[in-house]
Parts: sequence; C-alpha cells; structure tokens
Amino acid sequence: MSIPFVDLKTQYSLIKGDVSDALDRVFDHGQFVMGPEIEELEGRLADFVGSKFALCCSSGTDALVLPLLAKNLSKNDAVITTPFTFFATAEAIVLAGATPVFSDVDPMSFNLDPDLLEITIQETLNTGGLRPAGIVAVDLFGNPADFEKINDIAEKYGLFVIEDAAQSFGAVYRNKKAGNLADIAATSFFPAKPLGCYGDGGAVFTNDQELFGALKSLRVHGQSLEGDKYENIKIGLNARMDTIQAAILLQKLSIYQEEFERRNYIAQKYTDCLNECVELQFIQNDSRSAWAQFTILSDKRDDIQLSLTNHGIPTAIYYKKPLHLSPALFDLGYEEGNLVNSELLSNKVISLPMHAYLEDETVEWIASLVCDVVKNS
Ligand SMILES: *Cc1c(COP(=O)(O)O)cnc(C)c1O
Repeated sequence: MSIPFVDLKTQYSLIKGDVSDALDRVFDHGQFVMGPEIEELEGRLADFVGSKFALCCSSGTDALVLPLLAKNLSKNDAVITTPFTFFATAEAIVLAGATPVFSDVDPMSFNLDPDLLEITIQETLNTGGLRPAGIVAVDLFGNPADFEKINDIAEKYGLFVIEDAAQSFGAVYRNKKAGNLADIAATSFFPAKPLGCYGDGGAVFTNDQELFGALKSLRVHGQSLEGDKYENIKIGLNARMDTIQAAILLQKLSIYQEEFERRNYIAQKYTDCLNECVELQFIQNDSRSAWAQFTILSDKRDDIQLSLTNHGIPTAIYYKKPLHLSPALFDLGYEEGNLVNSELLSNKVISLPMHAYLEDETVEWIASLVCDVVKNS
C-alpha cells in the first residue's frame, strides 16, 4: 500500500454519507450558483475565524485578487510580499495592476522578516518611482506570520495588509485565528489545502463592512448591489464559489477542528523524531500552525527525496524557485543573490507526507528513513 502525500480518500470515507446528502439537497433545490449554502458557509467561516465578514469565492487566487482590486491600484503602487511562497501571491498583485516588491523571509519561520520588511519599505520610498501601498504577508505552510509587528509597520507607513492564509486555515497566532490577523485575509479551499473542497474554492475575510460590500460587487462583475444588478459600477470578475463546493465545505468544516488537532499531533511526532537530524520550521510558542506542509531543511535534501521515493513515500519541494527568480516576473529586474534567505531555503527544503490520517508508525518510519540518510550519506 502506498502512502498518500495528502489522504483525501480516508477523509471521504468518513463523511461520505453526509456529503451525498448535502449534494442531493443542492441537486433538489437547483440553485447551483449562489445557492443558500453559500451564505450559510460564509456565516460558519466568519464564526470559525472570528471575523465579521466572510466572502466565498472561486479560488484562493481570486480571494487575493478581489481585495487587491478593491484597493484601486496602479503600476506605481508597490505591494510588498515574500518571494518564498506559491506563485499566486505575486500573480494576484500583478493582476490587480500593482507592482510586487519582494522582501526576504526569516530563514527560521519561512515568513516575512519584519525588520527586513521595514528596510524594504524605506528602500522603496528612497528609490522613488514606486509608492508603497500595501503588504501581502503569507502564513507559509500554515505557520502564521508575525502580524503584530507587520501591522505596526504597516500603520507607521500607512499601508494596507492582506494576510495570505491559503495554507493556514485554523492556525492560531496570539489567541487569534489565521484569517483574522490583518485588515483582510484570503484563504484557499484547493483540495490539498488544510480545508479543501472537491474542486477550486476560496474565501476572503474582513471586519470592514464597506470593503465587504466592494468585494461582493467585484465577485459578480462589479455589479451594482442596490437596484439594478445589470448596472456595473466597476470592472470585476466572475469569482463566485459553486454552491456544490459550499455544500461540501459545510460537511468538511464539521470535522475540521479534529483534523487540525490530529495534524498538530503528527507534526509534534515528526518533530520529536527529526529534530536531532535536520532543521525544522520554527513555530512561535504562542502560535499553532495548520501544518499545510511539514517541511524539513537539509543539505542532503536530494538524497532524502531519493531514499523516500525508493520506499514508496511521496515528497514535494515547496518551493524550488523563489518568486523573484520566476521567468514570469523577470521584468521586475531581480537577480540571484538579491534575496538570499529565500534562495537558501529553496535549495534545502523538502516537505514530507502530512495529513490527519497518518498513522504514528508511518510517521516514525518516515522520520527514521530521513535520519538514516542524514547520518549515512
Ligand atoms: C494555494 C495558494 C494560493 C492560491 O490558492 P488557489 O485556491 O490554488 O487559487 C495562494 N497563496 C498561497 C500561499 C497558496 O498556497
């Protein structure tokens, strides 16, 4: 039997009946677009995260694009973000018409380093041309970024902050939930994320009623929300979540907290078995990661990957190339050596199987294989 990197089959076997019933209800009422499950899920998500408003949308990428569009940005607006993340983080900034400016990560937490962030803002101001407008901070692999410091810096320079919580649904930072750590947050329900649907989906969170109104309009072609819905007040998107996905997420959300606890248990087990032989991502004492990935650092990363592959254990390298070196962002003018911490991480990271249904013995076995490689090669 092979080990899945993320085990959606075992999860499905547990909720199969509830999912079927939920889907039957959607097929019966027939409101496939913006059916009642959407608003129900928005309420449940906002409650879970502790934010005033949640807006379901078509993907995690659109959950970033929508609030960025609401900010009316132009090419001269710099949105500062991390280069050590999934491509969509920077892509959304470009799609919304602004210019991404990368600031390096802390090599321990893998998240934006607040001290470097402030230096990047000052450098951007001093260089002229670009005007710092906002920050997109990512909770990488589920580990909340240091939002107290990031929000303080943002306030000092008058910038908005968006939390890219695509990987951190359920995570905790100083008694607050990920998704409620900044002005605005975006999450993804891509199937392999901590809370996934059975297709694409995402959500935006905010406490700002006016912004929530703007997001609702942008989600449906910038339509007017009062009066005539065929009156368009802005260029928007078709970024609605399918009712079917909301129905599925409502079922998955019911078992989410249990899964979250189990992921944390597994992460602790990995940590106990591995911290002698490899470096691990640092999680602050008052944070809890959602463990979208369990990622280790080793100079022998390629040997580890080969050995695990030979034993039928899947691994992944997130991320092989930091975004400032992405061909699609070549025009931004970055070169190798510009953001050394992100480049270093890209050369050393490897992510191990992580899901709520991993057995203790499997975790121990994977860890022992990793340590064997480190000691013997
Ligand atoms: C997955 C992900 C996204 C995009 O989410 P999609 O639902 O795939 O569009 C954005 N940012 C980060 C950090 C992600 O991991």
